[in-house]
Amino acid sequence: MNASLNYLDGNAAAGELSRVFAVDITSAEGQCANCGAKRRFAEAHLYLQCPGLVARCPVCGHMLLRLANIQERVFLDLCGMTRLTFDTTKQSNATS
Ligand SMILES: [Zn+2]
Repeated sequence: MNASLNYLDGNAAAGELSRVFAVDITSAEGQCANCGAKRRFAEAHLYLQCPGLVARCPVCGHMLLRLANIQERVFLDLCGMTRLTFDTTKQSNATS
């Protein structure tokens, strides 16, 4: 992690998101609902200094995804992305 930045890249969300998604979301392409940029989720700017995590668009900074663990529940907000596109030929088994 670069000491001058206060975020990680989207790859750092892989562990938490694997609790929700059966596929690796970090390799998926997401489209920002604000600016329309299409980028791999791994390129998102990930902020962990909050309850849970927040992923922001690397182009405009708009919130793409929020995930919070509260008691026994996981709250997932994907309203910042218009779509996620997965290449099923590149998916590997998350447990291997
Ligand atoms: Zn954007």
